[in-house]
Amino acid sequence: MRIRLHMTASPIYTLGPYARFGVWVQGCGRHCPGCVTPDSQSMTEGKEEEVEALARRILQEPSLEGLTISGGEPFLQEEALCELIRTVRRFAPLGVILYTGYLYEEIASRPLAGLCDAIIDGPYVDELNDGGSMRGSANQRLILLTPRYEGLIPFGTLPRKTELVEPGEGGLAQVGVPSREDVERAHILQEALLKGENT
Ligand code: SF4
Repeated sequence: MRIRLHMTASPIYTLGPYARFGVWVQGCGRHCPGCVTPDSQSMTEGKEEEVEALARRILQEPSLEGLTISGGEPFLQEEALCELIRTVRRFAPLGVILYTGYLYEEIASRPLAGLCDAIIDGPYVDELNDGGSMRGSANQRLILLTPRYEGLIPFGTLPRKTELVEPGEGGLAQVGVPSREDVERAHILQEALLKGENT
C-alpha cells in the first residue's frame, strides 16, 4: 500500500512532547482561508511512498517517543495511516498525536481515531487565531483518547514554537504552529527567494 506524503521530518520537538517523527500527508479539500500549509492541499502533488518503507524509516530513528500526523487531511488516507501505525507498533510502542480538520464527533468511530492517543480537531479559522500553542485557532480542541499524554500537551497555554528541520525530501522547512508574525516573515522570505530566482 502507498501513502501520498507532503513531507516527513524527524526528530521534531514542537508538535507534541519528546522526540517525534512528523508525517504530513498530502491532500485536503477544505481550503481554509489562511491555511498554514497550502502546498499540502493538492491531491496530486507531494510524493508517494510504500507504507512499509515509511515504517522502516520511522523504526530506524533512535529515541522516538511517538509520531505526529498532520497534513493535508489524514482521514483522506485513513487506510494507509492505519497500516503505518499498526506496522510501527509491532516493533515499537510509539504514541500518536493527529491533527484533523474534522470535528472529533465526525470521526470518533473511524479505525484511525481508534489508533490515536490524542487528536487535535477542527478546521483552521483565521479569525479565531489567538496565538495559542499547539493549535491554529481557538475552535480546535485537544481530545485525549488514552492517558499517555495527560498533562503533557500545553494546549493553547504557552507561546507558539516552531523549529527549522531538514525534511526527508531535502531542503529546509519550518515546522510547529507558527505565529502570524512567523507566517508573514516566511512569506516575505519566500517572495524574496522567488524574486532572486527570477532575476
Ligand atoms: S484542514 Fe488544515 S490542511 Fe486542510 S485547508 Fe484547513 S488548515 Fe489547511
